[in-house]
Amino acid sequence: MTALRVAIVGLGKIARDQHIPAIAATSGMTLVAAADPRASLPDLPHFASLDELLRDGPPFDAVAVCTPPQVRSRQAAAALAAGKHVMLEKPPGTSLAELDPLIAAAARAGKTLFAAWHSRFAAAVEPARQWLASRQVRSVRIEWKEDVRVWHPGQGWIFAPGGFGVFDPGINALSILTHILSEPVLVTAAELSFPANRDAPIAANLSLSDGSGLAISAAFDFRQTGPQIWDIVIETDGGTLKLSSGGARLALDGEVKVDGKNAEYRALYRRFLELAATGASDVDLVPLRLVADAFLLGKRRIVDAFED
Ligand code: NAP
Repeated sequence: MTALRVAIVGLGKIARDQHIPAIAATSGMTLVAAADPRASLPDLPHFASLDELLRDGPPFDAVAVCTPPQVRSRQAAAALAAGKHVMLEKPPGTSLAELDPLIAAAARAGKTLFAAWHSRFAAAVEPARQWLASRQVRSVRIEWKEDVRVWHPGQGWIFAPGGFGVFDPGINALSILTHILSEPVLVTAAELSFPANRDAPIAANLSLSDGSGLAISAAFDFRQTGPQIWDIVIETDGGTLKLSSGGARLALDGEVKVDGKNAEYRALYRRFLELAATGASDVDLVPLRLVADAFLLGKRRIVDAFED
């Protein structure tokens, strides 16, 4: 079998930290080029834009779109039109409707569109889903609190319209939640804190529920200093489940059962390879829908201006 030739568009933090090592570690695929207005890597053919890559670059089969969300759908559309399989970093788009033409284009072309929810591939997420399947869930508490200056240094796009603000990491928690619970969930109330000088929230408190009235709370905050928190605590009739470290670690009634190493992106690329083999798509918009509903329902507070 010939290797899947992959190009990366947007050679920023996540492309360097995760995509490049994961592609290198995945047999059956090879990285052939990158497109980014400024960033490049030694020995990797570089193009200033996706259009330039498509016009002048080496042949390739698939593209990992790792640009900020505001420019991603146009790039995904161009790649699909050129007959490439497409992996979209999360969040898959800046709006729900923007995914519709991409889904249709992928189906028409017989090419893969993969909305990559990397947190769902964290080591403890699948064991948590399996453990919960036979238990009655009584409450869920999510805390997703990180220091934006540490994790998103200089990323102006994150507080721009369509940048998601604190929902950029918060949607990862929602992607896990909606994967491990067996019932669909909905947002019932939200409070969004917008810095006086920014267009996206720096913190958010959400109340969610399901059809049976389950109490789910979620607190997202970008102003966290000290310990960084990416936790989901679920009370059940069979004890307390705690997912921490963004889904890498699982404890049951305080006893650690899984403490996984960082292998999310390798699993993501294995899944991409599997999808591309048949041109199938995997686009789950449920986490994005919850974020959209939080914006629709959310009470807006203006808080202190944020300077990076
Ligand atoms: P980033 O560091 O700002 O990287 C984005 C890169 O895309 C930058 O090099 C940027 O160049 C480039 N770019 C901007 N417009 C472009 C265009 N039209 N064509 C080609 N390249 C373009 O952001 P990031 O942290 O990697 O995040 C990217 C996406 O990955 C986000 O949606 C984020 O949610 C997701 N993600 C990030 C992390 C993380 O830990 N950082 C984790 C998981 C997922 P300029 O800087 O020159 O504009």
